[in-house]
Amino acid sequence: MGLSHDVKIRGTAAPEWPFVCPSCYRPEPDGVFVMRSSRIGWHQLLTLSWAFGSRPKLRVPACRGCAKRMRAERWGRETLSWVGLFIMVGVVYLVLDALGLLPSGPLRRWAIAGIFLVVVIPAAMVTMFFPPVLDATASGNNVTYEFKNKEYADHFRDLNQDRLAPMMFEDDPRRGGTA
Ligand SMILES: [Zn+2]
Repeated sequence: MGLSHDVKIRGTAAPEWPFVCPSCYRPEPDGVFVMRSSRIGWHQLLTLSWAFGSRPKLRVPACRGCAKRMRAERWGRETLSWVGLFIMVGVVYLVLDALGLLPSGPLRRWAIAGIFLVVVIPAAMVTMFFPPVLDATASGNNVTYEFKNKEYADHFRDLNQDRLAPMMFEDDPRRGGTA
């Protein structure tokens, strides 16, 4: 679910990319946006899937200006989310500790893990409802590509028709039988 449009591709080889900028949708972009898939994201943090598999590098046709902006946004998101996570966990920990609510001994470690989960879930919701232009997550032998724009996602899906992997949550009405 969420507001991104996901396309899951079998294998970690480079997919076919639409020759359209994923950010401003101008055709025949003059640059390339390079990123590594499988960021350590919130849902990967929960499933630990980031710890396994390869992290293929993506080379996505995009305008030079848009590529620069997407790089900055990506960097900002990751930094903010990690810094935010640690600050929130730290604050909750200090408050609980000051109130004397944290268990001592080995149970304390579980309490900290619990705080992480409580903080991570709302953060995962935020990233779900404000997806970046483009993201990719490698898990096992598949890579899931996430797009903000539905048309771009459909175009991408059409280009890679023969390598689609089954999705856990099918959001393509053409295959869901509802259209
Ligand atoms: Zn562009």
